[in-house]
Amino acid sequence: MSEGIVTASYVGATILFILALGGLSNQETARRGNLFGMIGMAVALIATMSGVTANLGILIVALLIGSSIGLVLAKRVQMTQMPELVAMLHSLVGLAAVLVGFANFMDPERLTHYAGVELTIHDIETYLGILIGAITLSGSIIAFGKLSGKIGGNPMLMPGRHFFNLGLLLGSLYLCKMFVEESATGGGLVPLLIMTGIALLFGIHMVMAIGGADMPVVVSMLNSYSGWAASATGFMLNNDLLIVTGALVGSSGAILSYIMCRAMNRKFIAVIAGGFGTTSGGGSSASVEEQGEVIAIHAPEVAALLLESKEVMIIPGYGMAVAQAQHIVNEITKTLRAKKINVRFGIHPVAGRMPGHMNVLLAEAKVPYDIVFEMDEINDDFPKIDVSIVIGANDIVNPSAQTDPDSPIAGMPVMECWKGATTIVLKRGMATGYAGVQNPLFFKENTRMLFGDARTSLDEVFKNL
Ligand code: NDP
Repeated sequence: MSEGIVTASYVGATILFILALGGLSNQETARRGNLFGMIGMAVALIATMSGVTANLGILIVALLIGSSIGLVLAKRVQMTQMPELVAMLHSLVGLAAVLVGFANFMDPERLTHYAGVELTIHDIETYLGILIGAITLSGSIIAFGKLSGKIGGNPMLMPGRHFFNLGLLLGSLYLCKMFVEESATGGGLVPLLIMTGIALLFGIHMVMAIGGADMPVVVSMLNSYSGWAASATGFMLNNDLLIVTGALVGSSGAILSYIMCRAMNRKFIAVIAGGFGTTSGGGSSASVEEQGEVIAIHAPEVAALLLESKEVMIIPGYGMAVAQAQHIVNEITKTLRAKKINVRFGIHPVAGRMPGHMNVLLAEAKVPYDIVFEMDEINDDFPKIDVSIVIGANDIVNPSAQTDPDSPIAGMPVMECWKGATTIVLKRGMATGYAGVQNPLFFKENTRMLFGDARTSLDEVFKNL
């Protein structure tokens, strides 16, 4: 392929990636957005491969192995494991940036291609690519552990952790200077290796210090880091497409982190500094006994309550994903709407375990988009709601976020369903949510608990309807 065609393909792929991001911003166009992304990636791969002259066979075998693993993983992964998979994929981007950085540094022709200022710039690009890549790599592995429950959700707070972080930062700056100086004379491997160790340690420490409820910000932040790592690699390899694509991922991840912070009423720097959720596990929140008794309800009564109501709000949470209850939820919605009952869905920005988790499930079950609302759009409507059904949600409907300043979720906006006439909560027992705090909603006078797996319970409700 001539250089002109490769450049044109890169421009085409960039446009397709921008269209993909635009499409993904709306549920109705998300499918099309995905398609644009896939075509863009195929164009980018073909154009890049066309420039490879040596070892094409190895490249094709590696591509086949990689795509087969990706295909099997994507087919096998359960919807509830999606966030973990995404975290794992981010770690691979980080690993790729580290490996490409080292390979680039060890290229025997490096010192013949670059000299003087150009070499310094190239070395800084390599250094940054490895630094961000290593932070992304270890941070994402810890995020994977936290999301899958293999590592506890409570923040690990070392004494003097801010000084520790500052020390790591200053150390990295000093090593950068050492690396640039030594690299001109053929050295530099030692500072590069030490910095990689520091960056890996920083990634682990940063994510370990973040409390359970703040994980959404971390996931989107690591997404952003993986983009910047790719972008730095693009500079290092002189690959325009990688620079632009990395910048697109980096900036969209940064915007998502901002949106997540706003949704949780947190300051970005405060989240990164860690420490939220220190009192989790019920620290200041009252225990089950102290909060009073819960009132259980059964499926026939729920069905009767629903049939008597005019306004119904459904609030899905992580438990709906676990139970895979979205399809039966759609059946119930159709039945109620056929009886002229106004059914709406209220979606909290951090419901589930990844941004947009609930929207994806509802779209999969073909719930009409026009009855699915963001929290901000419907939170004031609860006083007019007859029945709210909370399906496997906990933290996002926890009133202690507003009343208990010591709670790990203090200040996070929540769905104010208790302001409606009746709230029915579907869950299996009295377990806490991701943030590990008890929920006073369950003990309110106008709350009824429908215990059991959400799908089994809703099947029963549907039969009774
Ligand atoms: P929560 O994790 O707070 O609560 C989920 C509830 O679902 C649990 O209390 C559990 O109770 C119940 N549950 C689990 N399985 C079932 C089932 N099969 N049937 C019925 N109920 C079930 O979820 P929310 O969606 O309310 O809140 C999300 C939390 O996750 C927030 O703290 C958020 O910060 C965090 N988070 C969000 C991310 C995102 O990007 N959206 C990423 C990472 C973390 P029981 O066991 O008693 O059934």
